Amino acid sequence: MERERHSEGILELARSLKMSRHAVVLTGAGISTESGIPDFRSQEGIWKQVDPMKVATLTALRRRPVEFYRFYQMRLARLDDANPNRAHYSLARLEELGLLKAVITQNVDGLHHKSGSKAVVEVHGNLRQAACIDCGRLYPSEAIRKAVESPTDVPACEACGGNLKPNVILFGEQLPSAAWNRAVEQAGKSDLFLVVGSSLQVGPVNMLPRVAFQAGARLAIINLEPTYCDGEAAIVIRDTAGKALSSLVELVESEH
Ligand code: NAD
Ligand code: ZN
Repeated sequence: MERERHSEGILELARSLKMSRHAVVLTGAGISTESGIPDFRSQEGIWKQVDPMKVATLTALRRRPVEFYRFYQMRLARLDDANPNRAHYSLARLEELGLLKAVITQNVDGLHHKSGSKAVVEVHGNLRQAACIDCGRLYPSEAIRKAVESPTDVPACEACGGNLKPNVILFGEQLPSAAWNRAVEQAGKSDLFLVVGSSLQVGPVNMLPRVAFQAGARLAIINLEPTYCDGEAAIVIRDTAGKALSSLVELVESEH
């Protein structure tokens, strides 16, 4: 039988998805590891090599801009060559089929956009733009390109002279409020809330599954490691995002 190739968790998720009225996905760095972008907290994660509190903070950018840009040089170089993987494409396909209403992402890599997803909420910002840390003015990412290539050359804002940073949330910064409000609204509206590739250790985003659950949504989690929400989840799939989501698409398409 065809279906025997799929685990019970995936079969159950496909059933839930087809019955749902407003399914929403929350993704984290784990959805992009199969595109060659390391996550933060796994064994091979970035945090095993550098201390984030020393490099990815506003204080670091103000006091040690060269080191800050050296870190982003490493991250941006990897991103330039990265392409969406089958997990991203599967989510774009589910949206196209009308089965997925929104993708909330903690990722800053832009791979959901690249794979064709439209309803994307980037709660931690993105690397397509740069922003002034003093006045907030936005620039296209070319403004920081030079600093990324030679980190001794730290770019400054044309308006106020402040340092420019990639337009992502650094440690200790507030989330962009419009994106955050949209994320909370989507979580509250959802009747199926699926987490993909997130350790759920970063606040306030890790509250979103709870928001959804308390509003009555079924929770499903696809992640290689346990998360604090596993106990509340109706479905927990311990597999790679690429394999799990492509199986999911295969199943819903075969019966669509
Ligand atoms: P995290 O590193 O804390 O957790 C990632 C989780 O994904 C881990 O639990 C890991 O077991 C799991 N995982 C790894 N590969 C997987 C795969 N192929 N399939 C399924 N699960 C897999 O990441 P997080 O929860 O997103 O929080 C980290 C923060 O890091 C976020 O704020 C995000 O902005 C930032 N970040 C973004 C990127 C990116 O844009 N791609 C990369 C690294 C970190
Ligand atoms: Zn400025």
